[in-house]
Amino acid sequence: MTFIELKQAVYEATMALYHAGLIRMSAGNVSARDDDGHVAITPGGVLYDRMSVDDIVIVDLEGNVIEGQHRPSSETPMHTTLLKGLPGCGAVVHTHSIYAITFAVLGEALPPLCTEGLAARGTVPVARYAPPGTPQAGEVALEALQATPGLRAVLLRNHGLVVVAPDLETAWQTAYKVEIHAQITYQARQLGTPIPLSDEQIAELFRVYRSVREAR
Ligand SMILES: [Zn+2]
Repeated sequence: MTFIELKQAVYEATMALYHAGLIRMSAGNVSARDDDGHVAITPGGVLYDRMSVDDIVIVDLEGNVIEGQHRPSSETPMHTTLLKGLPGCGAVVHTHSIYAITFAVLGEALPPLCTEGLAARGTVPVARYAPPGTPQAGEVALEALQATPGLRAVLLRNHGLVVVAPDLETAWQTAYKVEIHAQITYQARQLGTPIPLSDEQIAELFRVYRSVREAR
């Protein structure tokens, strides 16, 4: 994949998140890597409604800038830590989506309650607190994700949401579904006590989805 293709893919995923309302102003960031260890990442401090594909920055897995007219996102150390540390992780999405942050400030994990809740591939945990923009933010997110192999989402305490996935399309769609699921959980709690899905029901849902995919 060329740098242009990598930057274009990050740009399109960022715009999808922006139009879905999951990232606003310049909060939140998106990255993807290629097989050679090059990472395309959103720039720091650029308002997303004014961002163009040329504003995306290319860094290496240590965060050194290879190409770009802006500084990379302040959360670059978190992105590179996850892209390096998780096998099969090709893309990282970090959002400041409202309902996800609501649970992040409560320090409450999000167990799956409906089909949207399955996108994270497990209960979305809350990582230990770390200040935004520090290498520790990546370390606590990595620690929380490694605790459940295959897990795709973690809440950053008092901060936001991080999603990891093999590719950008899966990453941004998972971030969207986690936010919808957080909103449903919030609303259900306002009206009563949500009924949890059992482990058997969750396993059955995954079996149904797998067979539908294979039948296509
Ligand atoms: Zn943030």
